[in-house]
Amino acid sequence: MNPPRAADLGLACCHTCGKLSPVAKGHCPRCHSPLHLRKPNSLNRTWALLIGSAALYVPAMVLPIMNVEGLGAGAAGGSGSTIVGGVITFWNSGSYPVAIIIFTASVVIPILKVAALVWLCLAASGKAPASPKNHGKLYRLTEILGRWSMVDVFVVAILVTVVQLGALMTIKPGPAALSFAGVVILTMLAAMSFDPRLLWDRRFSQSAS
Ligand SMILES: [Zn+2]
Repeated sequence: MNPPRAADLGLACCHTCGKLSPVAKGHCPRCHSPLHLRKPNSLNRTWALLIGSAALYVPAMVLPIMNVEGLGAGAAGGSGSTIVGGVITFWNSGSYPVAIIIFTASVVIPILKVAALVWLCLAASGKAPASPKNHGKLYRLTEILGRWSMVDVFVVAILVTVVQLGALMTIKPGPAALSFAGVVILTMLAAMSFDPRLLWDRRFSQSAS
């Protein structure tokens, strides 16, 4: 016999201030935020944001993340470097730690994060086996990882401000920088719109039946 859940008693936790109140009130009595038993359209929103981030991941990898202009950049007046191209350059020049950090932060982490959220969405909609304990850990991990995937946008931002040698050499952010920032922001929003309580709901409905 399961103890009753807050949702069964019509109680909802305010998303803003955390106060537990009857959902029938519509708004939180303390901060006036709208009350919901679960985040509205959580799975649909998460899927949409995940598809958007996967679509932006392609230009983020294929287009140049930064353009180097000036001496040594060729007669065309500039050369672009993709994320993977940059990793290979760092690796070949012996900067292995930098190459590993950039490869992990920009290639591995976004793929892992999207894969983890897809798995959680499938589990919450009953299309994958539900194991709330492991899924809770996975969900917390995606939130922690997300904060570190902005690393190479920062690298470009720092290079752009530091390497301004006038006529000698200029670094400008390429179109992939914007796409990559989009990937990071959309995956963060996807993790925020996913409601982990849907996993416990599924577990509850399985054990109740
Ligand atoms: Zn509130």
